[in-house]
This record gives sequence, C-alpha cells and structure tokens, in this order.
Amino acid sequence: ASDLIVHTLPEEKRAPKPAWDKLLFGHHCSDHMIKVRWTKADGWDTPTIVPVHNFSMHPYSKVFHYAQELFEGMKAYRGPDKRIRLFRPDMNMKRMRQSAARLCLPDFDGDELIEIMKQLLQIDESWVPPIETNASMYIRPTLMGTEPTLGVQPSNEAMLFVVMGPVGPYFSTSQVKPVSLMANPKYVRAWPGGSGDSKLGSNYAPTLKAQQEALKRGHQQVLWLYGDDHQLTEIGTMNIFLFSKRRDGTLELATPPLTEGLILPGVTRFSLMDLARSYGEFDIVERVIRMQEVEDLIAEGRLLEIFGAGTACVVSPIGEIGFEGKTLTIPPPKLSLRLLKELTDIQYGLKPHPWSVVVG
Ligand SMILES: *Cc1c(COP(=O)(O)O)cnc(C)c1O
Repeated sequence: ASDLIVHTLPEEKRAPKPAWDKLLFGHHCSDHMIKVRWTKADGWDTPTIVPVHNFSMHPYSKVFHYAQELFEGMKAYRGPDKRIRLFRPDMNMKRMRQSAARLCLPDFDGDELIEIMKQLLQIDESWVPPIETNASMYIRPTLMGTEPTLGVQPSNEAMLFVVMGPVGPYFSTSQVKPVSLMANPKYVRAWPGGSGDSKLGSNYAPTLKAQQEALKRGHQQVLWLYGDDHQLTEIGTMNIFLFSKRRDGTLELATPPLTEGLILPGVTRFSLMDLARSYGEFDIVERVIRMQEVEDLIAEGRLLEIFGAGTACVVSPIGEIGFEGKTLTIPPPKLSLRLLKELTDIQYGLKPHPWSVVVG
C-alpha cells in the first residue's frame, strides 16, 4: 500500500453522479479502480489506482475457459458525521484469500488491500451516498487467472482488481417485504467436497436457471435444498436463519453448520449470530434444518420466522415457501427487523462498534 501508484482523472472528465433515489444494483461504477498484476516469476507488481477502463486480454486467458475467478462483496457506509466506514473488511479479506487458495490463485496481504481500498474510497468519496438516502457503496474485489494458455493448470499470471459503485437500500426498515421462495430439490447449489463454501464466479452461473424458474413460477428467490432429507442450505445468495419455539417453550435461532462445505461463510451470518448472542434471550445454534421440520413447526404453531442474511439486504424475511405442490406460510418478521435495525445502525456508524472501520 505504501508503494501505491495513483493516476486520477481530471475533475472535468469524471462521470456525473446518478440520482441517489434511483440507484439500480450493479449499474453504477465510480471513476477509479484498483488494479494489481501478479506473475509466478515476479510475484505481485506495484498496486495501482487508475481510472476505470476496459481490459485487453488474450482470448486464451484461463479465466475465459475454466472460470478461474473469485470475488467479494462488501460495503462502505457514510455516517451522520459524513465519515465513511467499512464493515468488518478483515472478514472479507480472509474469505477472499481462502477462495484464492481454493482456485490455486496467489495469496496476498489482506490488510494491505484494505489500506488501498481506503485510498480508493477517499479518491471517489463523492460517490459514497449521504446517510439520508439509505444507500451505500458496494465494493467488488475480484481476482482472476489471466495466463493466455489453454491448459487446465493453475495460472502463472493473475490480476486483482477492485471496482465499486453506489447501491440503493434493499428495503428500508419501514417497508420490508417478506419474499416468496421456490424449494425444488431438482436443483443443487453446493455439495460436500465442492466449492459452494467459496465465493467463486463458477458457483453462480449454474444458479441462473433455477432463479429464472423461481421467477416464472411467481416466487422471488430459490431456497437451496441438499440431500434426500431436503436440508435447507441457503436462500439465493444469502445464508438462512430459522427462529422457532422448542417443545419446552424456550426459543432457538438456528442456521446450518459450515462443516460440510455446503454453506458460504457469510460476514452477515457471523455478525447476526454474535448480535443475537449478545441479547442473552435465546439459544443460537448451528445445526441441520430439514423441510420436514419446517412443516412440523408450522403444524405445531412453533415456527416464528425464517430469514435470509447477506451484505446486499442485511436481512430478508421469508413470507412463504413453495415445496412439493404445497405453499408453506411463514409468520411475519419481528426478530429479523430488530436485527436489521441494530446491524445497520452499526454499519452506518449510528452506534459505535469495533466492527465499523472508519476510512481516513
Ligand atoms: C455472498 C454470499 C452470502 C452472504 O455473505 P455476506 O458476507 O454476508 O455478504 C451468502 N451466501 C452466498 C451463496 C453468497 O454468495
């Protein structure tokens, strides 16, 4: 980070800002990006911040053929004091390095990349929306194999880049809409020994068809099941939580365990578990959850909530699940709205917290 080379655009060449109340996810890109090259022979080149530009790459580049690519999704938030904050960026860097190891792409120093991302945020700080908009800055670190040879082998060349742009609120606390899920065991997102626990581009292209079918059938998202016993694993690109009352009357917040490699280890997932634990009001457990249990809990009136959790929406309450011709109705959100408010208060710096890392 101390070697960083910066080339910025003159003020008059910078793009106009979009209207903060009309942001479409992934449609807006700030003026500058981070770009760092790596070769097996020489290691990491000097990191650069340069104007956003198109890449020129040989058609043989490994990423085009074998999807040797991984990414991260994280956000920066502007607080009421106008300062910009990252949320637990060390967790994203840790996961990104694990994804790199899974794809035989080079390791790097996560703290150094955080420093360079802070610089990028300061250079493009006018792209970070003000707090009143409920919007934020979505940051997309990416690493890919660029060696221009066709063999199925680890790439001897790589490029790490970071682009970012403002995104609107998924929904504000006052108007959260529970979503409808399609649970179809015909589609499987991840399996033991696979790569579903890493954020690899190759995990997502095969999910598009299932998502398309969910939309066609009048649902908004896919509930990913695994195994003959129909284990609930994830919701779209979110982790899943189930809140219920046990037979003895105590309450339990459950989410599937990370042990089998079926679950992406979400930063939001860890954070919600820690927040919920701090309440001391109910148990937080990592365990397998099956469709039969969901049906039994509904029949016995003990299901309280199901919700998804991820950086984009923080929490997304579930309203119903279409499964084997039935429609399972999930009770309205309460705990998830409380968690949404408390986590976003930390992210925007409304509540001081060590998870929130001030930029500059
Ligand atoms: C990114 C992602 C999540 C959520 O992770 P966060 O770090 O909380 O944003 C969950 N599941 C999948 C499949 C993902 O790709």
